Amino acid sequence: MAESVGNLAAWRNWSGSQQAVPGRWWRPGSEDELVTLLRGSAGEVRVSGAGHSFSALCKTSESLVSLDHLSGLLSHDPEQLTATVMAGTPLHELGALLWPLGQGLINQGDIDAQSLAGACGTSTHGTGLGLGSFSAQVRGLRLVTPGGEVIDADSQSHPDILRAGATSLGALGIVTRITLQNRPRYQLAEREYLLPLPEVLSRFEQLARDNRHAEFWAFFRADRAVVKLLNESSEPPTPKPRFNLPVDKVLDITSRIAHGVAGADAWMQWLLTALHSEVRRVGRSHEIFPSPRASRFNEMEYELPLERGLECVEEVMATVKRSSLRTLFPLEYRTVAADDVWLSPFYGRDSASISIHQHICTDYRPLFNLVEPIFWKYGGRPHWGKLHSLDARRLAELYPRWDDAARVRERLDPQGRMLNAHLRTLLVLP
Ligand SMILES: Cc1cc2nc3c(=O)[nH]c(=O)nc-3n(C[C@H](O)[C@H](O)[C@H](O)COP(=O)(O)OP(=O)(O)OC[C@H]3O[C@@H](n4cnc5c(N)ncnc54)[C@H](O)[C@@H]3O)c2cc1C
Repeated sequence: MAESVGNLAAWRNWSGSQQAVPGRWWRPGSEDELVTLLRGSAGEVRVSGAGHSFSALCKTSESLVSLDHLSGLLSHDPEQLTATVMAGTPLHELGALLWPLGQGLINQGDIDAQSLAGACGTSTHGTGLGLGSFSAQVRGLRLVTPGGEVIDADSQSHPDILRAGATSLGALGIVTRITLQNRPRYQLAEREYLLPLPEVLSRFEQLARDNRHAEFWAFFRADRAVVKLLNESSEPPTPKPRFNLPVDKVLDITSRIAHGVAGADAWMQWLLTALHSEVRRVGRSHEIFPSPRASRFNEMEYELPLERGLECVEEVMATVKRSSLRTLFPLEYRTVAADDVWLSPFYGRDSASISIHQHICTDYRPLFNLVEPIFWKYGGRPHWGKLHSLDARRLAELYPRWDDAARVRERLDPQGRMLNAHLRTLLVLP
């Protein structure tokens, strides 16, 4: 059902760090309606998913498109284990849509609030050796260019648009449907426990090899880390516990205290790790992957060559520890497989993914400015959806297929309608 086109109130992202008042907010009820809207309009157009990017990708004072009404399953192939889905489908609906078809997503990240197109737009990922990001699973997509042309791209037809469009930052046009490579549906068993940080660092490579998904969360001032492991399981699902310590809420409250009281972050981190109890649960993969994120924060993340990841963690930990900065949130460490998507931060290399966070009550800039040059030293590429300070000149050096991606963008959007100020900084060379 078509929704009216008109002026709307303010748009803001999840953390509140990005805000805008779009002149017009479009919520097309069909692909045809989207085509008509684009053909009949002029000026800047941005498209947003669930607004869970920390960077200014979706910000515009002109036209903002949302595909909230273009959601759901279109078709599936039981032999190839692929499914074609409307691009606005929220990830938290996708797992349940695929389960009755016998399919499951190959991997997922920490949350499932994003839209499918938004997750692909920035190469959203989880953790696991040999397991790629959402963009790496894209086998086909439909794109409506800013001029209103409809293009179906796959490995046979417009393969260049597929390679540029699987991680597009919404800069090529608007993706309306995506064909994903999935796998047979599966259950996961989760195990989470605390270890001294030196032990995690020395054992992590083995943990990553021995488990389908391995990651850790390292507290800067407690010298301890929470290890999280996920593996396929045929055990019966565990019933939901009657009481769960709301770790996320505790993190929120303690972050606020640490912000206000000098030195409190060290003993708060000690307290949080002391309170941590071992987690074990089993369930459908799409129910086990996501965790609650009630405590709002800002985040920076870089993807580095896998073999340098742990060395980089040690340097980041030591640098933050030496500083007088207050931060409660732990550093997150994951692994992601190489892919062949031109603007994917995982292009051509198995990667270590390192993220740092700062609660929204504290200015994130001192922490992120301190750590970002360390990521550069290790050859890191920033997560497109998270905060960083690189521009097109620096980014072009990090992406071997940069020029190919730029050519596709200039062909599909010769007037640069899809570029806001942030995207111009990222994508247009001076
Ligand atoms: C609490 C939290 C946890 C997170 N956890 C992870 C994690 O575990 N792993 C990870 O990698 N990232 C993670 N992220 C980052 C997040 O997954 C990405 O920023 C993702 O892109 C957000 O998806 P979205 O649907 O909110 O899209 P938005 O942020 O709204 O948009 C993201 C990009 O996709 C583009 N886009 C959206 N829809 C379309 C469309 N139809 N056609 C073309 N382009 C489109 C937008 O223009 C924009 O460039 C997390 C973020 C938060 C806030």
